[in-house]
Amino acid sequence: MAALTTPATTPIEFEYVDSREATDIVGINDSYGVFVDGSFRKPLSKKYLDSLNPATEEHLAKFAQGSERDIDRAVSAARDAFGPWSTLPGAERAKYLFRIARMLQERAREFALVETLDGGKPIREARDFDVPTAAAHFFYYAGWADKLEYAFPGLDTRPVGVAGQIIPWNFPLLMLAWKIAPALATGNTVVLKPAETTPLTALLFAELLVEAELPPGVVNIVTGDGETGAALVQHEDVDKIAFTGSTAVGKAIQRTLAGTRRRLTLELGGKAPHIVFEDAPMDQAVEGVVNGIFFNQGHVCCAGSRLLVNEAIAPQFIAKLKRRLNTLRVGDPLDKNTDVGAINSREQLDRITDLVAVGQSEGAEMYQPECSLPSQGYWFTPTLFLGVAQSHRIAREEIFGPVLSVMTFRTPDEAIDKANNTPYGLSAGVWTSKGSRILWMADRLKAGVVWANTYNKFDPSSPFGGYQESGFGREGGRHGLLPYVQGVH
Ligand code: NDP
Repeated sequence: MAALTTPATTPIEFEYVDSREATDIVGINDSYGVFVDGSFRKPLSKKYLDSLNPATEEHLAKFAQGSERDIDRAVSAARDAFGPWSTLPGAERAKYLFRIARMLQERAREFALVETLDGGKPIREARDFDVPTAAAHFFYYAGWADKLEYAFPGLDTRPVGVAGQIIPWNFPLLMLAWKIAPALATGNTVVLKPAETTPLTALLFAELLVEAELPPGVVNIVTGDGETGAALVQHEDVDKIAFTGSTAVGKAIQRTLAGTRRRLTLELGGKAPHIVFEDAPMDQAVEGVVNGIFFNQGHVCCAGSRLLVNEAIAPQFIAKLKRRLNTLRVGDPLDKNTDVGAINSREQLDRITDLVAVGQSEGAEMYQPECSLPSQGYWFTPTLFLGVAQSHRIAREEIFGPVLSVMTFRTPDEAIDKANNTPYGLSAGVWTSKGSRILWMADRLKAGVVWANTYNKFDPSSPFGGYQESGFGREGGRHGLLPYVQGVH
């Protein structure tokens, strides 16, 4: 019982042996062109951007700033490749996908390291989550490639054509896998635009595709900034756009495509409620809440960023939560002991800092554990806000950082009202020991995914996506094939 009486704010010192992952197996080129028609080419724009390590601000590589002409060349390559690829028997397409999945597994350590260097996430997460889950998506959709008529019996399962895919910086390789695997399994070809701050695993993936002997033009990767993404969205010969990112850009894309024949799926932001009832297993719930908001520095669209805790247990729960925050290790993402890594970019750090300042000025009570942050790089201390009102901006807007807004409730109805008081609808978490209450809550929560007594669990066979301002369309599972086939809507 000694642990329970420890004051919440006392830092707990553990001695950790240094466990830094070596980077000598990683070979990052000085500069990368665009990957079009099966090989790297100099960008027609002749322009390059820099990729930095957000943990050190060190330069990692130059990469192409794709222009409209680069996008045009990539779309033409994808169009030329579409005929042969789409008519290849499904079992043959599956062989390529299985090969890609196996090669990702073989080179998992290298991919994990590059993901961590380029994006700032802890190596433990890149190694144990991002890369294996990306490989699992390729394995999963390889399995569907020759069974499409069973996925949608009696319906037309022809591919849509050329898919333009735009991905964000929080899970660069995994988002690539979510997008490319179902598109290829169903016989489409692809032009992918990675995020400006995290292009490197996509470029490493392009090298892997060459080794896998994927036919040229089936996957094209054009790096660049938002303008490169906009050029892809506007290209008239793209049949479908799949976008993951901010709600603001998602809305702009929807406006561009409105009235055209081009299809669209959007996976946008969220402000997920994480609801803890009085009968929840408390220690497990604390771990779940910590995982829900501090995993990947809170750069997670489905992050459980609003904690709703039953008023009866709130003091005890918050004390435990504060105590747990004191044990989180923030720092070098390459250290296998690290729990919370670097913020992805200077811009994102500024956005988090601004919203946290708003939280303070609106009257919420901020709690941060004692935490010494590295002097170089972009860092933010794990943060709790207590006494948050529903009208506060930190309760309404996506912070996309390690910041949790805590509120309380008295009855299940009140929990539902507060949870659903958001324009988003991506995910939610419920902690209770009553199965019937989980089902009652899941029926009423406006969220695409509801986790019960757990959080942030992903499986390729399980569809993921939101509604309202969190977007539409599903990725993962049989549902994830739908946006890439015709005649099933
Ligand atoms: P964006 O929505 O700007 O970025 C997502 C992707 O879209 C990137 O590849 C980006 O390119 C590209 N893009 C940017 N502008 C356009 C455009 N006009 N047309 C087509 N593509 C475009 O997200 P941000 O990086 O600006 O992050 C802002 C906020 O968005 C975050 O603070 C967070 O709240 C939210 N977000 C949500 C994500 C989610 O998974 N739901 C993921 C990322 C961010 P580039 O990187 O080169 O700008």
